[in-house]
Amino acid sequence: MAQLELPALNVENGPQSNYQAYLSALRRSEFSGDVEFSYASRLAVATDNSIYQSLPQAVVLPKSVADLKIIGELASQYADVTFSARGGGTGTNGQSLTSGIIVDVSRHMNHILEINPQERWVKVQAGVVKDQLNDALRPYGLFFAPDLSTSNRATIGGMISTDASGQGSLVYGKTSDHVLGLTSVLVDGTLLESSPMSMEEAKKIAKNNTATGRLVKQILATCVDKREQILAKFPRMNRFLTGYDLEHALSDDLSTVDVSRVITGSEGSLVFVAEAKLNVTPISKHKALVNIKYDSFESALRHAPHMVAAQATSVETVDSNVLNLAKQDIIWHQVKDLITEVENKEVLGLNMVEYNGDSDDELQDKITLLCSKLDAALANNEGGVIGYQITFDSIDIGKIYAMRKKSVGLLGKTKGRKKPLAFVEDTGVPPENLADFIMEFRALLDARNLNYGMFGHVDAGVLHVRPALDMCDPEQEQMIPDISNEVSALVAKYGGLLWGEHGKGYRSEYAPAFFGEELYAELRKIKSVFDPHNKMNPGKICTPYESTASLVSVAGVKRGEFDRQIPIEVRDAFEPAMSCNGNGLCFNYDTTSPMCPSSKITSDRRHSPKGRAGAMREWLRLLANHNVDVNALERNAKSQSWFKRLNNSMGKAQSTDFSHEVLEVMDGCLACKACTSQCPVSVDVPTFRARFLSLYYQRYLRPAKDYLVGNIEAMAPLMAKAPNMVNFFLKQGWMNSLIKKSVGYVDTPLLSSPSLKKQLVGHQASRFDLGTLQALSAKERAKKVLIVQDPFTSFYEADLLSDLVKLVERLGYEPILLPFKPNGKPQHVKGFLKEFAVTAKDSADFLNKILPLAIPMIGVDPSLVLCYRDEYKTVLGDTRGNFEVKLVHEWLANIELPNKGQSTEIEYAFFGHCSEKTALPESEKHWQQLFQRMGMSLTPIAVGCCGMAGTFGHEASHLEQSKGIYALSWQKAVAAFESSQILATGYSCRSQVARIEGEKPKHPLQAMLAHLS
Ligand SMILES: Cc1cc2nc3c(=O)[nH]c(=O)nc-3n(C[C@H](O)[C@H](O)[C@H](O)COP(=O)(O)OP(=O)(O)OC[C@H]3O[C@@H](n4cnc5c(N)ncnc54)[C@H](O)[C@@H]3O)c2cc1C
Ligand code: SF4
Ligand code: SF4
Repeated sequence: MAQLELPALNVENGPQSNYQAYLSALRRSEFSGDVEFSYASRLAVATDNSIYQSLPQAVVLPKSVADLKIIGELASQYADVTFSARGGGTGTNGQSLTSGIIVDVSRHMNHILEINPQERWVKVQAGVVKDQLNDALRPYGLFFAPDLSTSNRATIGGMISTDASGQGSLVYGKTSDHVLGLTSVLVDGTLLESSPMSMEEAKKIAKNNTATGRLVKQILATCVDKREQILAKFPRMNRFLTGYDLEHALSDDLSTVDVSRVITGSEGSLVFVAEAKLNVTPISKHKALVNIKYDSFESALRHAPHMVAAQATSVETVDSNVLNLAKQDIIWHQVKDLITEVENKEVLGLNMVEYNGDSDDELQDKITLLCSKLDAALANNEGGVIGYQITFDSIDIGKIYAMRKKSVGLLGKTKGRKKPLAFVEDTGVPPENLADFIMEFRALLDARNLNYGMFGHVDAGVLHVRPALDMCDPEQEQMIPDISNEVSALVAKYGGLLWGEHGKGYRSEYAPAFFGEELYAELRKIKSVFDPHNKMNPGKICTPYESTASLVSVAGVKRGEFDRQIPIEVRDAFEPAMSCNGNGLCFNYDTTSPMCPSSKITSDRRHSPKGRAGAMREWLRLLANHNVDVNALERNAKSQSWFKRLNNSMGKAQSTDFSHEVLEVMDGCLACKACTSQCPVSVDVPTFRARFLSLYYQRYLRPAKDYLVGNIEAMAPLMAKAPNMVNFFLKQGWMNSLIKKSVGYVDTPLLSSPSLKKQLVGHQASRFDLGTLQALSAKERAKKVLIVQDPFTSFYEADLLSDLVKLVERLGYEPILLPFKPNGKPQHVKGFLKEFAVTAKDSADFLNKILPLAIPMIGVDPSLVLCYRDEYKTVLGDTRGNFEVKLVHEWLANIELPNKGQSTEIEYAFFGHCSEKTALPESEKHWQQLFQRMGMSLTPIAVGCCGMAGTFGHEASHLEQSKGIYALSWQKAVAAFESSQILATGYSCRSQVARIEGEKPKHPLQAMLAHLS
């Protein structure tokens, strides 16, 4: 019989005793970084983008090279303690996963140490993100060339350790081609500085009985003595064999030796990379991208080598599956004009062909030549070419690549339980063999009736393929080794590699076959001198020479093994949390992107959509193991008695209930909904967060602030009856202290005075009467506009609503205020789901009653208007009805606007609300167009979240984070303008600017009104 009460989910599997001893010693030492071993912290790094899951003992987050040395020095005293370094955690094959300790360099060791533009090099710490580096280099006209799809979250340490590369690798090479020197730390804490040295010097060092001497001696013994075998064995491909790169550790003429080349691609199995000196490349000034459309994917593949022959800098390809998924994604609105449909034809393959040139003339010559060939192919119906488009605009080129970079994530959107998985996703074969190889690869997958999408770097012979499987089904799990074996044999047949790009990880078991017995033994000897006791990422790439330890294997423990413990109905009900595939896009470092402000401000993987989805899955799994039917618990929606909740809450501090850890993780979420639309698989945290809160508080007492927020819509209209009196109290210092202490609420906003009611007294806009409106003719109704009130605008920004009334009138319409009806959003945010359902039903019923009038309904605040579209649908289903509330700009888009001629008055800066920008990606553009139509100037400003997010920034416990988030992108952007220029669409955003800068920005509609006045 299933339990119908939420139990305490005690988790007592903390670090093992030897690890506990090590971690205690680390804490007692001079180590200055963080040491974390809460269950949620460990879970947050128990997965990457692969199919595997492994819970580490702890996470340590060093701040310096000295910290890394301490980690190593202490480790020598604890025989069984092992490590895996971690950066962005975007590996696709479990590279960073471990049951030992994760050493995460991404949180603190993320500084760019020196840029030398004259000599074209840069020195960075290992945790620097690739896009972060390129943003810093851009002003110098330079960039770090190896490109990878995960560039906005993958770290330099991770790139070095997997020898990452990607688009443009034919010209720009791989990461190892750009490493000038490394500062690394060996597992015993020894510091290792490596850069190319002469053969003579290397031989001299090899004679020393030091750690470095022994390394160099072994590298010489392997790479010099076995040179012939190495050259014979490794394919001569752009994506040469890495981990460990025995060939390139020596220069072609054998005059120099470079230990860094052995470390590059070693997947953390040799050293901790602490710092790197990297070569950087001038940004090409002249670029063009030709998007060639084909009648089939095979045509695109077969055409690619001709593009390479025609001197293309890079050729990227996507198949129709990926294209179709992109068309349904938020990303498509940016590229749809650059990849238009072809009349009467279907685009089933696309090659994105980039050309760079030192001069415009050189570029034009190359493009002209290509176009003449493409025109001929089109005229003669050859090669499956059905159209092409060219763009020279670097921003547009960036947009197309952003779409391509999102391909993996897009595949994750595939509906149903079978999800595209990484395990044979980066095969590399000589490009001339690619088309034939892919045809056989497809046949292999088709024979199993598997779905898959394909895209990749056709110029380098690397194709990304992710077959869709349900890892909760043990039978389908068994296909992983079967398919891996077959694909491994297929790449060998075509002279290629199983790991053309993403490294080995759990596929290391295939390494002996690829290296061959003799060279694999050499690999193990190298491992022995770096890491004799197999403590560095054990099981990856190889084990020390003559050790009996085993390699990790594709049959290793997978995430599916945990997920399948959750009943299928629960998995379906919590699909967004289940479908996170760990690709890490939510760690996006770009502060101007709306994606996850809480992740950015905390640099804590727990506080990201991925961390939250992972915590939620584990919570569901533990509940299932406690025989709790979560769906029934939700349906029942009954809290335990007040006394029981009090009792449970009193023991909270001592309790090991995992629910508290999940609560902490959920509490940091701003419910901004960026993840809902920006995550490629739409991991909608606010929805499952609300459901979690609702269940959690069945067992525990709620804090007072939740009731304050949950009831704000009921209280605000009452308080607005006497705004001056309420404000008088709110302005008193003692009152603020009292509210802060008792409710945990700060900077309580003041009510509007005079109130909206007073401002509109006697105005026809305040005379709503349904019967009167129903009695009007259609023509009379066509002139009316109904304004849907929200609590924030109506009671705290009454001027804005009055201005909306005036604007509507100026535009020749008759505004009518609908009576205030609570929207319910604050209840939803705090997880009062039962109450939210009632509010939503009441509001929806009312708005549906208005619907037959066919009068447009408009609302001002984006997050509340969008709630009608999103949360209402989830909670009410079909009973939501068809009412539609438009945002102001959506209504303005379809009406005539007066243009008083080009205005020179003010150049406005537009700061969009992040929920609006992510849910309605064209909203900024639409506001800009509206302003243009009225002869006004408006420039959208790239900012992330403002940090206020409804009431989040008013909660004392979040105050510091809220201000920190504002400082990430808004502060500087706001400072760049006069306050009169700044326009913001969100009530929260305006409040946050007012609180921090002392002046409240206007809403764009107010600028329009001023323009017309
Ligand atoms: C959607 C998607 C697209 C991808 N596209 C590409 C692509 O285009 N090209 C490409 O090359 N790869 C790609 N990858 C794979 C992955 O992003 C790269 O391997 C990347 O270099 C990993 O960087 P990271 O910081 O996330 O490293 P992590 O995943 O954290 O670690 C990767 C490996 O490096 C080791 N490591 C990390 N930091 C250190 C350090 N400081 N010292 C020692 N070892 C360390 C880890 O132990 C692990 O073995 C893709 C992955 C995903 C999910
Ligand atoms: S939450 Fe979304 S973006 Fe983040 S790792 Fe999961 S799937 Fe990727
Ligand atoms: S709603 Fe916003 S803060 Fe919360 S997880 Fe999603 S992106 Fe992060």
